[in-house]
Amino acid sequence: MEHALPDLPYAPNALIPHLSAETFEYHWGKHHRTYVDNLNKLVAGTPFAGASLEEIVKKASGGVFNNAAQHWNHSFYWKSLTPQSSDPTGALAQAIDKKFGSLASFREAFAGKATTLFGSGWAWLVQTADGGLDIVQTPNADCPITQGLTPLVTCDVWEHAYYIDYRNARAKYVEAFFKVANWRFAEANFKA
Ligand code: FE
Repeated sequence: MEHALPDLPYAPNALIPHLSAETFEYHWGKHHRTYVDNLNKLVAGTPFAGASLEEIVKKASGGVFNNAAQHWNHSFYWKSLTPQSSDPTGALAQAIDKKFGSLASFREAFAGKATTLFGSGWAWLVQTADGGLDIVQTPNADCPITQGLTPLVTCDVWEHAYYIDYRNARAKYVEAFFKVANWRFAEANFKA
């Protein structure tokens, strides 16, 4: 089965003014597409040819891992954004309060992890094996599912995610991320 670029869950201009259509044209239409194309080329004729994306992310290394994990991470990132963002509710909101004290403290901690990650990578809100929450950084293509963590929501902090709209100002992009973060998606991923 060929890996395929997923459709965006919204129109490329739906997140204006926080993220431009041009950002989606490049980030989704070129960067993500290239990871998918490279993955299909790299696994052809190998034991990974029939494997699921998750299986490849968990077992592969080198170029196969990098392209598979970037395909997984970006597919998850598009769903982590929404034009209709509103605060976390229910069991997830309670778990955020329990772990971080308040939504404001959580945002500060998440923004800290997203802005201080050195170089390219990802900031994630994850659920740990004991059911609690944590914020983790992963460098480059690394993905929390290889560490037994359940991703709830992610912020791509590769420069390609924000350079068109925010140039070098990653902190401004992370602020914008909170205006479009999809907490309904995070709640659906959270196991109460
Ligand atoms: Fe990206």
